[in-house]
Amino acid sequence: MSNTSHQSFVNRRVLRINVGFLLAQSAGYQRIIELDMPRVRVDEDLDLDYLRGELKLSRNARGILVQGQVETSVLSECARCLTMTPIPVTFVLEELFAYPPLPEAEYAVEDTGFLDLAPLLREEAILAIPMDALCRPDCAGLCPECGKNLNEGPCDCQPEEIDPRLEALRKLRDQDDRDENT
Ligand SMILES: [Zn+2]
Ligand SMILES: [Zn+2]
Repeated sequence: MSNTSHQSFVNRRVLRINVGFLLAQSAGYQRIIELDMPRVRVDEDLDLDYLRGELKLSRNARGILVQGQVETSVLSECARCLTMTPIPVTFVLEELFAYPPLPEAEYAVEDTGFLDLAPLLREEAILAIPMDALCRPDCAGLCPECGKNLNEGPCDCQPEEIDPRLEALRKLRDQDDRDENT
């Protein structure tokens, strides 16, 4: 994949959603929001190539419940050749953002009335990546000897001769050479 500069990413502030209008409502009030974003960096170690989906935000007695399904593509290492490659994943979100924020709550609405989806998306996206994700189904992987990416062509490593009879003949021949030279 191409090397990407910081400019090509949408700032993850777009994942902070103003829910002040919902906090002012009584329990049961709902609002649907659409997500349709280009590449966004949700954390230093995680880029989402795009982000699409529909989230339902519901006011309840304990805060804001976020529910929905999102489609994205996570830049992650191929399990064989370790090249960074976009891996499409779909996952469901269902999480309470506590309001008022409680110390024991994993996610909370900030005092400013914003709810930050980035930490939740980061956690769910990482969980959604299959352990055996490949850059392509027939990825040739890395040479175990020299580490070369074999998708780019063969390396110079020769398979070792392991036939014991050949090995014995070679030793005899070496012995003859030494005898002749003495
Ligand atoms: Zn690969
Ligand atoms: Zn090699």
